[in-house]
Amino acid sequence: MDKFNVHVCPVCNANNFSPFLTCTDFFVSNEKFKIKQCSNCGFKITENIEDEKNIGHYYQSEKYISHSNTTKGLVNSVYHRVRKYMLKRKRRLVEKSATLQNGKLLDVGTGTGFFLNEMREYGWQVTGIEKSDDARKFAKTEFNLENLPTEELFKLKENEYDVISLWHVLEHIHQINENMDTFSRLLKKDGKLIIAVPNHNSYDAKHYKQFWAAYDVPRHIWHFAPSQMKQFGEKHGFKLLGLHTMPFDSFYVSMLSEKYKKSSLSLFKGIFYGGISWITSLFDKAKCSSVIYVFEKN
Ligand SMILES: [Zn+2]
Repeated sequence: MDKFNVHVCPVCNANNFSPFLTCTDFFVSNEKFKIKQCSNCGFKITENIEDEKNIGHYYQSEKYISHSNTTKGLVNSVYHRVRKYMLKRKRRLVEKSATLQNGKLLDVGTGTGFFLNEMREYGWQVTGIEKSDDARKFAKTEFNLENLPTEELFKLKENEYDVISLWHVLEHIHQINENMDTFSRLLKKDGKLIIAVPNHNSYDAKHYKQFWAAYDVPRHIWHFAPSQMKQFGEKHGFKLLGLHTMPFDSFYVSMLSEKYKKSSLSLFKGIFYGGISWITSLFDKAKCSSVIYVFEKN
């Protein structure tokens, strides 16, 4: 089977890399994966992963879906409440960024449909792209959303959307440059591209190192910091309008990282270090555990 390896940095096109970290897939396989970093821009890349066709078994969609829908366990219960708050926050961010109360939204990697359902309830015309059959079925049953499989993305109408959003999705996409070009084509002039990804420059990433839950190898192929995301957007003709924080990610990721470390009092430690990460991000958005980037198509 062919493995997916990158020899040219997708952000800056340099071809020199150095080893960065070796991380374990704590979520599914317990296999180890190396992450390398671009010597020029510092962008980080998971090495030697399965290609697009074969990476599916590292996802265990059942686990992903139950994780998004069960209230069992404290971590999941917190996640559940936070999701409700975050849906509202995401909607307001979309409305504010687009300077529209409703418009056309394309959500890529839309998952089980909670976000699109929220947007549709507030008058947006929504289109969702989702790779997982199970997640699409869930969205259909639960919300009557007709989300489309990945290959449909490239057949959508050009210059059509006011906003394209990717909530923790870009880091999973193999053909990252091709996808960015597609987003640019599909957006209207001055359309907004909203991308949320984990931030390896965050306090919690530096604290947890190889245990940082948001490295999430091999599912996360790409690891961005704000300077690299800005450069990557510009490469595809986007202007970075601003950064926004995802404060709850500091706590969620820290608690999960403590669990991966198998530390005693993991919940309390997770809240403690998550708290430091959150406070740090109040002073510097570029230090938040996850960052939302708002770009405008030039
Ligand atoms: Zn680079």
